[in-house]
Amino acid sequence: MSTGTEPGAERRALVVEDDEDIRALIEFTLQTQGFAVTAVDSGLAGVDAVRATKPDLVTLDLGLPGIDGIEACRRIREISDAYVVMITARDDEIDRLLGLETGADDFISKPFSARELKARVNAMFRRPRTSEGSPVTHVPIPADEHEVLEHGPLRVDVDGRRAFRDDVELELTRTEFDLLTELMRTPARVWTREALLRSVWGTEWASDTHLVEVHVGNLRRKLGETRDGPRYIRTVRGVGYRMELAD
Ligand code: CA
Repeated sequence: MSTGTEPGAERRALVVEDDEDIRALIEFTLQTQGFAVTAVDSGLAGVDAVRATKPDLVTLDLGLPGIDGIEACRRIREISDAYVVMITARDDEIDRLLGLETGADDFISKPFSARELKARVNAMFRRPRTSEGSPVTHVPIPADEHEVLEHGPLRVDVDGRRAFRDDVELELTRTEFDLLTELMRTPARVWTREALLRSVWGTEWASDTHLVEVHVGNLRRKLGETRDGPRYIRTVRGVGYRMELAD
């Protein structure tokens, strides 16, 4: 059993976009990246298509007829751990969306270039995966072939893409998993928000650092951090984040 994308394992993408021109642009761009692409023009059709096609990646327009991108994303999150890229009409919508905890992994505002979309998608899929796109099937692999990270009660099976606290599996999105893995791989390192952006999202735009803060916040909650309870990730004021040192 090797790590990384198995030869012949097809990556699937779903494009949810009601503007025909933009839909065609995204569809074409993702096809050139080797995705088998399904495209639909409404949020409800998008949720149905996620169920039917089990995509690895979903691009989701915010402004859609019927249910909007936010509601569609919430419904998709209930049934899939696909990467979700939310596409917004304006740059300044992104901050508002971050506050709503939509569950999206990344945001791109219109107008965007095919090159920009490609770069974002490549960064997401750069990491080795063994789940072959399906969050449900788990192929047993001998433990010694897994990179396993431990930090106090936290354990991350990097290749199996599973995370545990006190042996209870955590329900992390792909982005939260990638964030936790980066932090746990180098527990003494203080990560700047910019470095995490580069490493997890593949972008260097300093304006996106809010994205890091929101995802770290969601991750902390899922790890079970509370105000007075356990802390696993430390905020280094004015710099960024690192793992909390063990007592
Ligand atoms: Ca639209």
